[in-house]
Amino acid sequence: MHILVTGAAGFLGSALANRLVDEGHSVRGLDDLSAGDPTRLSPQVLLTRGDVNDRPKLWSLLQGVSCVFHLAARVSVPESVLFPRDYNTVNVGGTVSLMEAVRDVGVQRVIFASSGAVYGEQGAQPLHEGLAPLPGSPYAVSKLAAEYYVRTIGQLVGVTTLSLRVFNAYGPGQPLPAVHAPVIPRFLQQALSGGSLVVSGDGRQTRDYVYVDDVVDGLMAAMMAEPSAGGVINIGSGQSTSVRQLAEAVGRATGRKIEPLYRNTETTGVSTMQADLGLAQQALRFAPRVSLDEGLALILAEDPRFRRD
Ligand code: NAD
Repeated sequence: MHILVTGAAGFLGSALANRLVDEGHSVRGLDDLSAGDPTRLSPQVLLTRGDVNDRPKLWSLLQGVSCVFHLAARVSVPESVLFPRDYNTVNVGGTVSLMEAVRDVGVQRVIFASSGAVYGEQGAQPLHEGLAPLPGSPYAVSKLAAEYYVRTIGQLVGVTTLSLRVFNAYGPGQPLPAVHAPVIPRFLQQALSGGSLVVSGDGRQTRDYVYVDDVVDGLMAAMMAEPSAGGVINIGSGQSTSVRQLAEAVGRATGRKIEPLYRNTETTGVSTMQADLGLAQQALRFAPRVSLDEGLALILAEDPRFRRD
């Protein structure tokens, strides 16, 4: 199949594009390289540098394509609080631009990387797709709005669409920006450099950490799923891990003595997140394969930034 991956030079996009190439597909990528790194990509991925709002570029990239994976986005919750307009332009506007181009060119299927963040603070766990979303940040609002655009435009123009609500993905190659770094690579770096692990709040907040290869499994399954599979499906580990437990796991993986430093004054976002995987199992035969301990060991083995001396 000819496939387009937007955000192809990103953490998840590159893992997906490389897997697609390995499985024999012809893969085009689009990325503006605002956060992506093209060196992550197999040379067989034909990467075009460009903006997801550039419809003429989308028209030409979509010629002959049967499935689009839409991953291009701005991805930081705290940054979205500072720059909500930018998040709206890229995450919502970019999705609408893509769906217009998909309609114009006549693509059959769009798989959208949404986020578990759309659930927000819910009373009940695990989080299932039937819950009314309560997005708590401009990032979460932008992913939810994009989900609605993907589904609605898809229904109106006869394109099969599926939005996967990915929970907290981690793995080798995950970006480690100087500010607002994701917790797993940040903890690994802090542990290996002999520093304290800096924990926001009291560390009792929980997240559902899902290994990158499991996310790619879910995306690949979505490409083949029945069109009736449903508009929105969770992709997570199904496990709820507190930040304290994560710190202990990082200690086990690195063999370092862990001394968390609690920043009780910092806000932590939602208190609990755990994906219900019932629909993913049923519709995609999705079953995560990598435990948190195994995933941390794989990062240490494969990611040169965390090589132990
Ligand atoms: P990432 O930042 O590594 O990848 C996003 C890519 O999009 C980057 O390569 C960036 O350069 C590109 N991009 C940004 N703006 C663009 C634009 N205007 N035009 C073209 N390309 C643009 O992030 P990621 O973690 O790989 O996330 C990929 C997707 O998965 C995103 O849509 C994100 O919302 C979603 N997601 C990620 C997670 C996670 O834990 N990593 C969880 C839920 C959902």
